[in-house]
Amino acid sequence: MKIGTPRETYDGENRVAMTPESALQLQKLGYECLIEKGAGAAAGFSDASYEAAGVEVVKTAASLWKQADIVAKVRQPNEAELKRLTKGKTLISFFNPAGNEEGMEAAKAKGANVIAMEMVPRISRAQKMDALSSMANIAGYRAVIEAGNNFGRFFTGQVTAAGKVPPAKVLIVGAGVAGLAAIGTSTSLGAITYAFDVRPEVAEQVESMGAEFVYLDFSEDQQDGAATGGYASVQSEEFREAQLAKFRELAPEIDIVITTALIPNREAPELWTKDMVEAMKPGSVIVDLAAEKGGNCKLTVADEKIVTDNGVTIIGYTDFPSRMAAQSSSLYATNIRHMMTDLTPEKDGQINHDMEDDVIRGATVTFEGDITFPPPPPKVQ
Ligand code: NAD
Repeated sequence: MKIGTPRETYDGENRVAMTPESALQLQKLGYECLIEKGAGAAAGFSDASYEAAGVEVVKTAASLWKQADIVAKVRQPNEAELKRLTKGKTLISFFNPAGNEEGMEAAKAKGANVIAMEMVPRISRAQKMDALSSMANIAGYRAVIEAGNNFGRFFTGQVTAAGKVPPAKVLIVGAGVAGLAAIGTSTSLGAITYAFDVRPEVAEQVESMGAEFVYLDFSEDQQDGAATGGYASVQSEEFREAQLAKFRELAPEIDIVITTALIPNREAPELWTKDMVEAMKPGSVIVDLAAEKGGNCKLTVADEKIVTDNGVTIIGYTDFPSRMAAQSSSLYATNIRHMMTDLTPEKDGQINHDMEDDVIRGATVTFEGDITFPPPPPKVQ
């Protein structure tokens, strides 16, 4: 069978779902690999580098979609791409199934099988295919770098002949995958790093990375009650008030705030209010990784960088992984390659779409003319 990757069509998207390295691995599984001309250019992978890895460079998207039995891409397909699906074709991509009824209906009508990368179950066996985590890791790292780029001072404290420089104080709100990556980056740059999460079980992890966990003046029982099954849930009003009071206390002394707080299937909780922004020093920076879901900071504007009247920079970019396209493409292409390994147990270049397999079943959102989303809960944790 042939597996092909088209050029991403979403405006400003620099990533690509196949790299020369991943193509070599896919060929070992028995597949012929195709890439659309120029698809890897924005991520630093030339057509020549694909050709050197045995990949056929195809001139147009139309031809690539026609020839490929399996299409691997990054962004949710647009209308024109959905039209290119045909019976029996497999699409592996981010697909946003919870908010993309139309896309699922279109794929179902065509009889195409769609594997949505954000639906890979978060069980140990599937970590190698967990594209949400690989992209969140990059976003967390890049958020700190972006903050540093907009902060006019050092992260680390210094004593120099020209004067003493205090270390920057960084607060990370939300210590999931992106938050932990941000903590690691911030501490390694030498900043005094604080982190908060509604899940108190992450405190130990935060502290082991050299950051300080911010505790609330709240009983442990109540703090525990705010989370379920590894994910955050909506908090009580009382808890929220205690959290906001703590942030209000910290705002005047914090130089950089990186917010990553999300609750599955909801708008992001608003945690950094207008008065907190106003209490910050001029030159401070906020990077809001929740911007796409409405933002954790009241003043965030998605996809923009703004500077407030009191000189606080607020960054609401939603394309952090794409800003590190070489790295994110390598990791995403590896996630896809692992998915293909599980789909090709015989290494014979033929897809075996086993709907009894928890991971494959969990990620499949349309199959043989049916919508198969949402999936049943995985049998194995
Ligand atoms: P996420 O992106 O859904 O949320 C980010 C963080 O925000 C979470 O830690 C959440 O607790 C926190 N948050 C929510 N509301 C908040 C608030 N009001 N104040 C402060 N923080 C708030 O999370 P994620 O990165 O997807 O990780 C979620 C869970 O999944 C974690 O327990 C993580 O360890 C787990 N996980 C497991 C696997 C695996 O087993 N394969 C892979 C990735 C993540």
